[in-house]
Amino acid sequence: MLTNTENDAAKPAEGISREGVPGEYASLWVAARAVREHAYAPFSQFPVGAALLAESGKIYLGCNIENSSFGLTICAERVAIFNAVAAGEREIKAIAVVSRGGVTPCGACRQVLAEFTHAPEHVVVLVEDLEGKVQCFTMAQLLPYAFGKFQQDQVDGPSLTQ
Ligand SMILES: [Zn+2]
Repeated sequence: MLTNTENDAAKPAEGISREGVPGEYASLWVAARAVREHAYAPFSQFPVGAALLAESGKIYLGCNIENSSFGLTICAERVAIFNAVAAGEREIKAIAVVSRGGVTPCGACRQVLAEFTHAPEHVVVLVEDLEGKVQCFTMAQLLPYAFGKFQQDQVDGPSLTQ
């Protein structure tokens, strides 16, 4: 198993080697590293690559794209998601994100990922640094109590009606 229990939020399975990641995700690493080379990051000098595995089995790519008007910058993860959605996908199975230091998706990207996550405890987010250190999370870990249509599925969450 890649991760801890679904209720063990914010505790990644740290330090997993590439060999510890199921083979079905191996191509995601290669794709994420390759697309990172296309990042447009002249301001931050922080290129990021993302490769998303959709439920259909197809892979969609994204890299961060910055803009002189900083607020228009978009993250690699959202570019990958939007590419997938534009191709007709509606459900994410996994996403790999590669960057210097191996950072996890930002809050905005987590919310957008959650929109297309139908089983948050099963959707895998793989984060890798440039040295090959991998961290694995589920969407349930990265964004517990997410806003949206899946709120009612989180049986352990607080309720205003109780
Ligand atoms: Zn982001």
